[in-house]
Amino acid sequence: MPLYEFSCRRCGCRFESLVRLGEEKNVRCRSCQSEDVEKLLSSFGIGGGRSRLTTSSSSCGTCTSKSCSTCR
Ligand SMILES: [Zn+2]
Repeated sequence: MPLYEFSCRRCGCRFESLVRLGEEKNVRCRSCQSEDVEKLLSSFGIGGGRSRLTTSSSSCGTCTSKSCSTCR
């Protein structure tokens, strides 16, 4: 489940919530229970640094360590 950040239009508070696909309209503010919330674009969680790790780990041809920095 993706983690989204929401902003409440009524009380102005921000909160994060795990939302299933298609259930974004069911999200309510945690402070005032208002349904008038706005989904914010998350600055993290998309893409991530995982692909970076994979790329750097494959550069070592002499060992299978994923954090190899000593065998060269
Ligand atoms: Zn609110």
